[in-house]
Amino acid sequence: MQRVESAAEPQSFDRVLSSMCTPPHPDAREAAERFLATNPGDPGTYETVAALEQRAVEQLGRIVELGDPYGYVASGGTEANLQAVRAARNLASGEVNVVAPESAHFSFRKAAEVLDVELRLVPTVDGRVDLDALAAAIDAETALVVAVAGTTEYGRIDPIPAVAKLAGTVGARLHVDAAWGGFFLPFTDHEWSFADAPIDTMTIDPHKVGRAAVPAGGFLARDERTLDALAVETPYLESTSQASLTGTRSGAGVASTVAAIEALWPAGYREGYERARSDAGWLAGELVDRGFDVVEPELPLVAVDLPEEVFDALRAAGWRVSRTSAGELRIVCMPHVTRDLLEQFLDDVDRHVTGS
Ligand SMILES: *Cc1c(COP(=O)(O)O)cnc(C)c1O
Repeated sequence: MQRVESAAEPQSFDRVLSSMCTPPHPDAREAAERFLATNPGDPGTYETVAALEQRAVEQLGRIVELGDPYGYVASGGTEANLQAVRAARNLASGEVNVVAPESAHFSFRKAAEVLDVELRLVPTVDGRVDLDALAAAIDAETALVVAVAGTTEYGRIDPIPAVAKLAGTVGARLHVDAAWGGFFLPFTDHEWSFADAPIDTMTIDPHKVGRAAVPAGGFLARDERTLDALAVETPYLESTSQASLTGTRSGAGVASTVAAIEALWPAGYREGYERARSDAGWLAGELVDRGFDVVEPELPLVAVDLPEEVFDALRAAGWRVSRTSAGELRIVCMPHVTRDLLEQFLDDVDRHVTGS
């Protein structure tokens, strides 16, 4: 039997290259600890953290260019995506379907299963939704069309205004999943925000690039009707209804979201983006120079086709790397992934590529 040490230390982020988690900003860590025992799910009792949550929603609204935002701090992107599907289903009548690109996060499969709605997955071209295939997949029963702003595997951004137009032709709602990309995209020329298209709901995770403590996901909606469609009555609480999926929630997510955004928006996030972009471009170039096939990074995420034995050797050397469904190694340039770390990684790649 294996015993877990009672004083186990968390792993360091030393060789973690494929994760979308990263150490929280120091202010976020401190705020998380202070608010650990508060419950924003019970705003009648925990008024301070409830007020902080409103601030978090307003701050997130600023980042996604939504002037009068509705929403809450969810447990993560999975919950936020599920809630987008749930709201669309509840606002529709009769049979409904949800249409998403094949590149959409697997949380939509969970949502479809839990909510018992049909999920139609549409092929992609170069990692972005194929608009002709999308047009063919939607119909009068489509309640929601999903677009991704920063796909989990390749960091691709769907053509959101064009997707919005198609969704509009069948009266479907539009959800944008910017769980990972949302804290990078304000510093790019991409059209992805509430100001760029008639988006109804969005997922943007403070606990990824936002540098809040886990768990902190963001669910945002353009109008109050969306939250109303999610609300259930709460008989034994002072507040009368609750729109979140989870009941008791950690105030740590809320407080650390506010603290991280106050510390980093916009200059700190911009700096982080510029550095990550430059590192991703540099790494992609180095890998191309070595003769590997590299998926050109659009956001700071590099996918590279390495021989199986090199991948295995890197894992054995302690590199925390994972693969896309097509088999490429993914390097996500999160805040803890420094140029120095990438240089060490390349040294190890060189060491294990023998006879090439
Ligand atoms: C990470 C991710 C999710 C899921 O978020 P969790 O916080 O892990 O639940 C959803 N969508 C995208 C695009 C992601 O990158």
